[in-house]
Amino acid sequence: MTDCLFCRIVERQSPAEITYEDDAVLAFKDIYPKAPVHHLIVPKRHIASLLEASEDDAVVLGRCVLAARRLAEGTDYAHKGFRLGVNTGPEGGQVVYHVHFHFTAGRRPRTDA
Ligand code: 5GP
Ligand code: ZN
Repeated sequence: MTDCLFCRIVERQSPAEITYEDDAVLAFKDIYPKAPVHHLIVPKRHIASLLEASEDDAVVLGRCVLAARRLAEGTDYAHKGFRLGVNTGPEGGQVVYHVHFHFTAGRRPRTDA
């Protein structure tokens, strides 16, 4: 069994409330939401952080960004808007070392981030 939490969620070895899935990407609700709507969007393939990403990862990272549009589609956030953020490395606030995009919505974003 992998010791990467998000790989375990992708492999259904750990529970999560899944909100979007395609062949390359999974999204699920953040267990400790920091906004009224807070999903995490991850590539199914393990990439530890943006600092480890290579040219070969460009397509799957782009697919994660497009998954955000899919999450918003059909909801108020398709016109109200949402925020997408990637914490990277220790000073970037990254805690889980499997690249993830924070999709947050439902309140005004902080202006410093
Ligand atoms: P980071 O700080 O690495 O950018 O964000 C990690 C995020 O993962 C945090 O927002 C945290 O609440 C979330 N998280 C940590 N453990 C779990 C878990 O077991 N399940 C889910 N769904 N989210 C988690
Ligand atoms: Zn992983």
